[in-house]
Formats: sequence, C-alpha cells, structure tokens
Amino acid sequence: MSASAATKSVVHVAGYTTCGFYRRAASVVSSLALLFPSRFRIVEHEFPSREAYREWLIDEAAESGGGFRDVVGNRSPPPPGNLRATSHTSSPFCWLSSSSPATAAVGEAEGDGSDIVEFIGGCDDTLEWCRRLLATVGTTSRGNGATAAAAAMVPDGHTVGHAYDYDLLVLGGGSGGLAASKEAAKFGAKVAVLDYVKPSPAGSKWGLGGTCVNVGCIPKKLMHNAALLTEAHVHDVPHYGIGMTKEMEAASYGVSADNEHPQHGWETLRSNVQNHIRGLNFKYRVDLREKEVTYLNVLGNFLDAHTLETVNTKGVKSTVTFSRCIIAVGGRPTPLDCPGGDLAISSDDIFSLETDPGKVLCVGASYISLECAGFLKGIGRDVTVAVRSILLRGFDRECADLIGEHMKGIGIKFIEGVVPSMLEKTTDGRIKVSFSNGESDVYDTVLAAIGRTGDTSKLGLDKVGILPKTSNSKIPAVNEQTVTPNVYVIGDVMDGCPELTPVAIHAGKMLARRLFGGSTAPMDYRNICTTVFTPLEYGTVGYSEDDALAEFGKENVIVYHKFFIPLEWSISPNRGHSRGFCKAVVDKSSNKVLGLHYLGPNAGEVMQGFGTAMKLGCTFDDIVETVGIHPTTAEEFTTLSVTKDSGEDAAAGGC
Ligand SMILES: Cc1cc2nc3c(=O)[nH]c(=O)nc-3n(C[C@H](O)[C@H](O)[C@H](O)COP(=O)(O)OP(=O)(O)OC[C@H]3O[C@@H](n4cnc5c(N)ncnc54)[C@H](O)[C@@H]3O)c2cc1C
Repeated sequence: MSASAATKSVVHVAGYTTCGFYRRAASVVSSLALLFPSRFRIVEHEFPSREAYREWLIDEAAESGGGFRDVVGNRSPPPPGNLRATSHTSSPFCWLSSSSPATAAVGEAEGDGSDIVEFIGGCDDTLEWCRRLLATVGTTSRGNGATAAAAAMVPDGHTVGHAYDYDLLVLGGGSGGLAASKEAAKFGAKVAVLDYVKPSPAGSKWGLGGTCVNVGCIPKKLMHNAALLTEAHVHDVPHYGIGMTKEMEAASYGVSADNEHPQHGWETLRSNVQNHIRGLNFKYRVDLREKEVTYLNVLGNFLDAHTLETVNTKGVKSTVTFSRCIIAVGGRPTPLDCPGGDLAISSDDIFSLETDPGKVLCVGASYISLECAGFLKGIGRDVTVAVRSILLRGFDRECADLIGEHMKGIGIKFIEGVVPSMLEKTTDGRIKVSFSNGESDVYDTVLAAIGRTGDTSKLGLDKVGILPKTSNSKIPAVNEQTVTPNVYVIGDVMDGCPELTPVAIHAGKMLARRLFGGSTAPMDYRNICTTVFTPLEYGTVGYSEDDALAEFGKENVIVYHKFFIPLEWSISPNRGHSRGFCKAVVDKSSNKVLGLHYLGPNAGEVMQGFGTAMKLGCTFDDIVETVGIHPTTAEEFTTLSVTKDSGEDAAAGGC
C-alpha cells in the first residue's frame, strides 16, 4: 500500500460541512495522523454546502476536464482506483497525495494533480483503508485479523439533560429493535420501542416480535421439522423396527418396503405453530414491561431528526420526541410485478394460511423459496420451483448445486430459466401461471420469494436527510450510524447487513452498549455462520470456494472435501439419494481456514461451534488436530484429507 512508504503521506478528505459521512471520515483520518504523526498528515477540504461541493467535484457545467474527480481519474499515469474516482458523486471524496501545502483552502488541491498517489474513495472506503493500515502498523489483532480498533462514531449531540420524551426511540420491534431497546434500558436509558405490523397484500397480520418469530425463522423451522419427521417416518422408521409386529417380522424377516407417505393435516400444523407464536408474542410484551421499555403499538414516520409522527390502530395521530433513534424496521417480501402478481402470496402468509396449500409453485431460488419448497414437499405436497437463473446466489456454488440435485431427487420439480409472465384466477378458484418460456400450469398456491426490500418507503426519511439505496430501499450507514448522526440503523434494513436474526440482535446490543454503556466495540460482520434449512440442510461460514478463488487466486487456495453417508441414514436403503458433504477452503500459505461448508443433518448445530473457531482465526491444522466426537457428522471435518486438486475420490471410508 502506498501509504506505508517511509515518506510522509498526505490524506485529503473533501466534503461539505453538514455531511456526517464527511465528518466521520475526517475524524478517523485525523486520529490516524495523531497516532502516526511521522507518517500521515490530513488535509481537509471543507465546502460550505452540498451544492458548492458538487460544483467542485463534478462541475457539470465545465466545457472540458470536468470537476476535481476527473482531475484525479484522468491523471496520467492513472492512480489506482481512477475509474471509481470519475463516477464518484457523494461526500466525502478522499485521496492520497505525496505532498501538500501546510494548510489548504477549499479547492486548493486542484491543478494538474501530479502529486496524487491513490484515489481512496468515500467514507466506507476510507474507513476500510484506515483499518487495513492499522492492521499493518501493529494494532493488536485477534484471530481472523479483526482489529481491536474502536468504532468510529460522529458525536450525535446527545446530552443527559435533554428535553425530549425519550433518550432512545427504537422504530421497529423485531429481532434487532427488541434487543437494542432492552440493552439500552439496562444502562438506565429511557427507551420506547414502536412496533406496528402493516398487513401483507393478502391480509396477514401478526403480533410483536417482527419477522423472525412471526413469519420467518420460527414457523419455518417448525414446519421444516414437520418435514424431517415425515421423512424419518417414510424412510427410517420401518428399518429401525419401529411398529413391527411379530407376525410382520416373521413374514418378511425385517422390512422390505418403505412406509407409505402418511396423511398430513395442514390445519393441525398451522394452528399449533400459530399458537406457539402467540405465546412468544405475549412473552415479548411481558419482557419489555419487566425491562422498563415502553412499547407503543403505533406506526411511526419522521417529522424531523428528533420527532416522529405516530398513528395507532384506530388511526389516531400523535407525536413523540427523542434524543436518539434506531431504525429497525426490517424488510418485506418483494412482490411479483407481472400481471396478476397480486394473486401470489409470500412468506408473510404461508405459515398462517387457513387452507391447505395444495399444489404449490414457489417462485424464486432464494433460500426462503427453497426452504418453503422443501418443507411443503416434505409434508407431502406437490411442489414446483420456478428459477430465473441459479439457486442460492451468493452461496458456495458446489453446495448450492448439490442441494438442487437432492431436491430434485426427492421429487421437487424445477422449471429453470423462467419467470412467471402472468397469473390468472381459474373458474374453480385455482391459479393459472404462464411462464416466460411459453409454458403454463395450474396451482392451488403461488408463493413469491424473489427477494426482500427494506421497509422504508413511508418512513419520511427525506425529513432527516437519509437517502435509502434505490436498488433495495435500505439505509447506508457506518458503524450503524446514518448520515444524520443521532439516527442509527440496524438489522435487515441496513444496507450490507446479512439478513439474519442473530446479526440484527448482536448489532443492536453492540450499538446500545456504545450509545449508553461506554463501549467502543464495533459490530464485526465477518465470518458469520448460517444455515439454510433445505431438505438437505446446509451450514456455512466464511468464504465460498468461488469467492476465495476469485479473491486470493487459485494458486493460493487449497480445498479439502469429502462425501459421507450420515450414520443415522445408513440403515435406510431408501435414502440412497442422501449424501452428506463437507468442504474446507484454506489459505495455502498461512493454513488459515477461509470457509467451511457442510451438507447433512443438523447443519446448524454442526456449524455453530465452527463459527467460534473461525472467529478465533483457526487453521486447517487446528481442525484436523481436534479429536472428533464419534460417531457424528461434525467429526467429518476433523478427518478431511483429500484435496480437490489431487483428483482423488472424495467419498469417505469407514471409521
Ligand atoms: C421466511 C423467512 C425465514 C427466515 N429464516 C431465518 C433463519 O432461519 N435464521 C435467521 O437467522 N434469519 C432468518 N430469517 C431472517 C430474519 O427473520 C431477519 O433477519 C430478522 O427478523 C431481521 O430482524 P430486524 O429486527 O431487522 O427486522 P424485523 O424482524 O423484520 O422487524 C421489523 C419490525 O418493524 C416493524 N415496523 C416496520 N415499519 C414500522 C414503522 N414505520 N413503525 C413501527 N413499526 C414498524 C415491523 O412490523 C416489524 O415488526 C428469515 C426470514 C424469513 C422471511
């Protein structure tokens, strides 16, 4: 990196006075210059307004040459990052030069730009650049290289004696919002949490607790469990001798045929799942009361950076004021945009569906689509998945393909390379779906799971100067702090945050500790383990093989892999289609594990402990030198030895 050269480097940070991202980048770079005065100097180029800044940066009116970003981007020879420089529009704009005057007035960095060494980028890029530098100048680093650096936060104006109604107002009572509000209250903050559920287009509503408990992880896992129990009944139960009479055994000396697929009662499953959820809704309310957090069942939208307008279930409006606010409104399923798309339901509706789903089309290849397809097939429904391109984008490709093969093996139909072009109601109340390839079919239920969008459209974010991203309606932030310093964001609605319950919870707690508990520790979003609850479960942490190869190069990565038959399936001949698989992606020179992937039973339980190992920066040798627990499927990781490069058979042997 150019800044690690022996000569003093000058970091330029340009932006406008009221921009929180500019102030944050400038304060972080200033700290760097204070810590290492012999190596860095900061020059701030502060503009009085956004307009003045953009005129300097972009200068659309200029006849030739454009604004300063073009001076940086078009310099010859080009500095690293020059292409990003010429398309940069936001504040701040940061770059590195080899020299500068002792002080710099606005725009003084103009000229031929011959001293420019490197374009750094905006606020996020600059923070990352500083993090990388700190890692190379000897800051204590843990495990996987996570630096112990404090989270960079801009002062947000909070004072103990303020006159607002609350110290903290949390907008959204889901996983993240509840965790943040309770944690802040622990430190004595006066906290209110607002939670209001807008009904889905199909009319589904639910109680306190957000997506996870009502229409996400909890009902999904229970229904997945229904599928696992059914699968065990069909494939395993007879081979374990369960339900055998003496006569049956005498006749067949064991079992020759597998069990019939049992009748499955949707209504029993649905109502038991919903009753469990109602119990959890009640517990959450009690918990808030016990922790002295005020719960308001109202819909909120911003009037300004310290005031929300609220509307209750009867339509009565009010206002509430706060010193600090955390936005934790989560996301909602993206609807199908073809004609008749409103005939489809979503994950907001499936778990409380009053009628048996019957023959189902799941649209999309996201984990939500595949998980729903999996449990519906598992409980005996006729299921088809419509896939536009590839399964489980962003996950390890080999594992995603193995999941697809397994799902096909258990009878789930896939229509690939299509999107629905029209949905129509038939005379008998079913739904005819026409696909982009000209084919069509009729279903009882169409479930759209093509992605999720941040639930920000009616929040009045323009009143607080926050601009959500147009592609996903999510809110950009650095260390969960938005461009408006007293407004924070956590969970699914934060741009770049993995859409997972424990991530929202952890980030919410860490933020509350920083805001009210004197902590400076940032949330670490790296190496988060997760599980996809498809019929063949998939647990993963760290890099996929594809991403590791792309980032580190084929010559620097070594992949160990292994297929195995889980012992619990091995005496059930009809599970012939079901193989487990595990894979470790390893950095060749350091032996550090970059990623672990597992397909098999209890994937979440298997992967949780490996998540800790990864956080501590484990090496491949650490894993294979760990004494396994026998006989388990998790121990397969401890016996990995075949590399992909070797071309040897990856099928496992015996104990
Ligand atoms: C089908 C499905 C399965 C999933 N399975 C898993 C899983 O197995 N494991 C996992 O880790 N994650 C899973 N997730 C993801 C997980 O549910 C989310 O990551 C998590 O719930 C996000 O929490 P959150 O606090 O960001 O938002 P949410 O839990 O969505 O909470 C947001 C809350 O804010 C409320 N709200 C919105 N706007 C307003 C407003 N203006 N005023 C007041 N209240 C408002 C909403 O009604 C909601 O209650 C799943 C999600 C789905 C959809």
